[in-house]
Amino acid sequence: MRTQVAIIGGGPAGLLLSQLLLKRGIDTVVLERRTKDYVLARIRAGVLETGFAGLMREAGVGARMDKEGIKHDGARIAHPQGQFRIDFKKLTGDHVIVYGQSEVTRDLYDAREAAGGETLFECAGVTPRDLDGEQPFLTFLHGGKMNRLDADFIIGCDGFHGPSRQAIPEAARREFEKTYPFGWLGILSETPPIDDELIYAGSERGFALCSMRHEKLSRYYIQCPLSDSPEDWDDDDFWAELKRRLPEEVAETLVTGPSVEKSIAPLRSFVCEPMRWGRLFLCGDAAHIVPPTGAKGLNTAASDVHYMYHALVRHYEDGDSAGLDQYSAQALARIWKTQRFSWWMTNMLHRFPDQSEFDLRVQQAELAFLEENEAARRALAESYVGLPY
Ligand SMILES: Cc1cc2nc3c(=O)[nH]c(=O)nc-3n(C[C@H](O)[C@H](O)[C@H](O)COP(=O)(O)OP(=O)(O)OC[C@H]3O[C@@H](n4cnc5c(N)ncnc54)[C@H](O)[C@@H]3O)c2cc1C
Repeated sequence: MRTQVAIIGGGPAGLLLSQLLLKRGIDTVVLERRTKDYVLARIRAGVLETGFAGLMREAGVGARMDKEGIKHDGARIAHPQGQFRIDFKKLTGDHVIVYGQSEVTRDLYDAREAAGGETLFECAGVTPRDLDGEQPFLTFLHGGKMNRLDADFIIGCDGFHGPSRQAIPEAARREFEKTYPFGWLGILSETPPIDDELIYAGSERGFALCSMRHEKLSRYYIQCPLSDSPEDWDDDDFWAELKRRLPEEVAETLVTGPSVEKSIAPLRSFVCEPMRWGRLFLCGDAAHIVPPTGAKGLNTAASDVHYMYHALVRHYEDGDSAGLDQYSAQALARIWKTQRFSWWMTNMLHRFPDQSEFDLRVQQAELAFLEENEAARRALAESYVGLPY
């Protein structure tokens, strides 16, 4: 088999890139380890920057997102002394769109199938080869036999645990990592959201987030010890703990119901440099992870896709490889700024096991400063709605 661009991973980064390239007549094959149903059932991110939404439209898959997605002009921050609003629209003129990652992925798969794009599911042992030569290729097991896919370029969109990053020789890559001593216990419930906008709560008992997918589907999270497992929490315990972490007047309005999904995600910051090795390029979680506090995981994958897409179009349409040469530095410059933002939001709103009284006072002052100072709120809003590409 031969293609122009071989993409490992049929998650949002791989699918969005393949759909954008397909629109420009650039041939791609996507290799995915799981089944399509498995990928579509993964409940993850739900807040899209306008840059992400723009890419979806450019890929020709924005119609349902524009119809069903919910535009948010602001978000609330609650703390033990009260709550305040970050007015994205007033501070930046911009907004975010609440639209689930599973819906994004479904729209992209539907469009890819309708356009006849090739995706191979249940590929095992995908291995990138000859990456530093002129003719890289992938070998993989599919349909009971070993296959070989030759390509001009290989794009690793295979998430944190995929093989692409590992294919860069250890001596040629540097990894930067920070792990946090807690996780997020998240539930999905078919109940109306507690508010029209997201509520980020930094309470004395730990962090909580009230999020949503649509007007009848809510997503709630609470900070929990890493040693907990979802089975340790029945729904009643979860709702009771969530209420304790919200201001009383807000907690009173919470509509509870049975959870339809419950999981725990550990929090981690991670970056791999560089994001290119020969003819291999990394996009999305394959190269970096953020703690979800700033809603940046999926959005940062999209900004990589933006740079990668334009670099490949420039190469194929103008015969100019400057974009490919600049890709890693360009993508990393934005990634580190979103890393900083996600780390800062995480530090401001969570309780850490080793926090001293001094640390707690600084955390309170940080929130008070944000509440009082418009420039500080604008800085938060600019990062939240998305830094320019
Ligand atoms: C539990 C969880 C909750 C999250 N919640 C949020 C959130 O609330 N907000 C937010 O902004 N972000 C969140 N994220 C992060 C966000 O979901 C990711 O940043 C986003 O999915 C990145 O997209 P991606 O395409 O780069 O990687 P992925 O979505 O991980 O996709 C990678 C794809 O590659 C495939 N793959 C892996 N290995 C191979 C292989 N060997 N061969 C072929 N295919 C392979 C995988 O099956 C997968 O389909 C969450 C992540 C997790 C894990």
